[in-house]
Amino acid sequence: MSSDPHNPTSSFAQEVAREPGGEDINKCVQCGICSASCLVATYERRYRPRQLIQKILLGEREEVLRSELPWLCMTCRLCEERCQEGVSISEIFHAVRQIAAREGFIPNTFKRTINTLMEDGWLLKDAYSDMIEDDRDDLGLDTDLGWNNEFVKRVKERYLEGGTSS
Ligand code: SF4
Ligand code: SF4
Repeated sequence: MSSDPHNPTSSFAQEVAREPGGEDINKCVQCGICSASCLVATYERRYRPRQLIQKILLGEREEVLRSELPWLCMTCRLCEERCQEGVSISEIFHAVRQIAAREGFIPNTFKRTINTLMEDGWLLKDAYSDMIEDDRDDLGLDTDLGWNNEFVKRVKERYLEGGTSS
């Protein structure tokens, strides 16, 4: 890595910087305010935004792309409110996920979530229980959630099958 923190030279840092959202990677001065601000870091010891950015700057491409950690950012942007260098941290992790996804490194948990959504129309499998159906009925709401299937169909067409449905 370059001794100038504003001018990282790892090829992975440059690759991330070229990815939409990753442009700020070279602004990071490794102060650690993001890690101290992050709610996810409070609950998950392995998740430290500063450390992840450091690994990118150091060119740890394989390790970062194969890790589930960049997928844990919940895009709350609390860290970005506090970063004195104006780094869009969540966007950087978004850029990393884009690269990872292109290369097939999507954590199984997320793959399962997508598959469940596509098969079932819900993030939680079998979430549409008899109880919910009864509640909807009591409230006079339509118990047939066919709209949900229609939504899934449109997402598939638009994002997975190259269609133009909007
Ligand atoms: S707060 Fe900003 S400058 Fe500091 S480590 Fe995090 S991203 Fe880098
Ligand atoms: S945007 Fe991501 S990295 Fe920043 S505080 Fe929120 S969860 Fe943590």
